[in-house]
Amino acid sequence: DTDILVIGAGLAGCACAAAAAEKGGKVTVVEKTSSFNGRGGGFGAINSRYMEELGVKVDKVNAKQHWIAQCASRANEDLIVKFFNNSEEASNWLLDKCEALGGSAMVGAFYSHDDVYAEQPGYHMLMIPEEAGLTSTGFAGAELCYLDAVRDGAEFVFDSPAVQLLKDDAGKVTGCICETGEGYVQYNAAKGVVLATGDIGGSLEMCEAYAPICAEYGQPRSQYTPAGANTGDGHKMGMWIGAQLQDLPFPTMMHPQAFCWFHGPFLFVNDNGERFMCEDTWVQGKSLAINKQPGGEAWSIFDANWPTDLVNGLPYGGGMFWDSFRPYGSDLELAPEYFKTQIPEYVKQGIAYEADTIEDLAAQIGCDASVLSATVERYNGMCEAGEDTDYYKKPVFLTPVKEGPFYALKVGPALLAVCGGLKCNNDFQCLDENGEVIEGLYVLGNIMGDITAVDYPINVAGNSHGRCITFGYMLGHDLAEA
Ligand SMILES: Cc1cc2nc3c(=O)[nH]c(=O)nc-3n(C[C@H](O)[C@H](O)[C@H](O)COP(=O)(O)OP(=O)(O)OC[C@H]3O[C@@H](n4cnc5c(N)ncnc54)[C@H](O)[C@@H]3O)c2cc1C
Repeated sequence: DTDILVIGAGLAGCACAAAAAEKGGKVTVVEKTSSFNGRGGGFGAINSRYMEELGVKVDKVNAKQHWIAQCASRANEDLIVKFFNNSEEASNWLLDKCEALGGSAMVGAFYSHDDVYAEQPGYHMLMIPEEAGLTSTGFAGAELCYLDAVRDGAEFVFDSPAVQLLKDDAGKVTGCICETGEGYVQYNAAKGVVLATGDIGGSLEMCEAYAPICAEYGQPRSQYTPAGANTGDGHKMGMWIGAQLQDLPFPTMMHPQAFCWFHGPFLFVNDNGERFMCEDTWVQGKSLAINKQPGGEAWSIFDANWPTDLVNGLPYGGGMFWDSFRPYGSDLELAPEYFKTQIPEYVKQGIAYEADTIEDLAAQIGCDASVLSATVERYNGMCEAGEDTDYYKKPVFLTPVKEGPFYALKVGPALLAVCGGLKCNNDFQCLDENGEVIEGLYVLGNIMGDITAVDYPINVAGNSHGRCITFGYMLGHDLAEA
């Protein structure tokens, strides 16, 4: 018996557990795998004390408009605003945990300055000294919350996948059943059951049904860890007791990071050597356009002048896969300096090629030399004319491919997460098909429906982790104090 039962020890579940436990809540977390789980590079905040110190500000009006637009006006605006208005307090709470271990945070300068697909600053990367003894290889938010939750008395039960939710006669969710090595175990929760079981990315069947765009190329290229753990169990358990899914299709977080991380706004060609898109677009846009090409892959083609072209273009575009993970306030020159070290690594890995002629480059990527030469010639002509009549890329990014050595960097989308889930109200309570609250049942993290829709709003980079922290913090406190 417990008061607050959290299902899933990812970032959302751990943040909720830590927040509830610090307020004296009696918390039990059941987790399918043998550990808490986290991944990635950092978290997005709408504000934090690090941002205050640096004088970095998110333009909330722009950020919200773009979020809504990128989600095709189908996301829950109240939930978005709730994140915006509570992110600062929760982010500082997480930063306290980091600093308690002697760490600090760096705010990234790699956001897009484009007016059409503007991104916001506020992506924080934690820097925690090795002596702290953390085991996380990437973003350590889940581990920081896990450690504090345990310190404050939360119980974590690993290797215990929840398989069914329990409801009383009045329809209130009162607990769950887990399947363990020793058989089935029932957990009863007096105050609430929090579904924090992550996404559906580990279930090809669910991806095909709810997010078909990622199923063909994205799913086999999933970079989610722990691989295969998130099979939409929470979604199914919720639906079995009457919870409603958000509208389909589920948004996919697909970043063009399956092969080379760097590709900038340069000329993209597919495996046939043909251009197919305006390369000056947001991260998701690149992934989706490339996903439709043969093999779900493409090549970023540029010439010896790329460092200058990159630096000249950054003030008008930028963002991930275009800029390096530079800290706020650093020099633009840091971006090419970093990628100069990366390109030879890509070449060694066989995902990039360097050649003195376009014909040789074509031979290396395996396309018809006459097709690639014609594509490059046409592109160079438009660069000279200053107008991209094929795709209307911004003139500032029309940089010709003329001076060898020439480069081809392989680009492809990887599936990070499928961010769709169960509908909820503004207190994170699950809703049934009539829009009525299912008492006792809450959602957090990727299983939360409607905070994103249709596509992932990367304009607030790291908002996935940011929301896990903010909403986990809020719900943990609310449930402990209920
Ligand atoms: C390579 C990579 C990099 C990323 N980088 C970033 C980044 O820099 N910034 C960012 O914001 N986002 C990033 N993301 C996305 C982000 O990590 C996730 O969207 C987010 O952390 C999801 O958190 P969550 O708590 O909802 O789910 P998860 O962290 O997936 O946690 C869900 C937990 O539930 C458990 N579980 C599943 N089923 C059951 C069950 N039946 N019973 C009990 N437990 C169960 C799972 O084992 C898991 O521990 C990245 C993703 C990837 C793959």
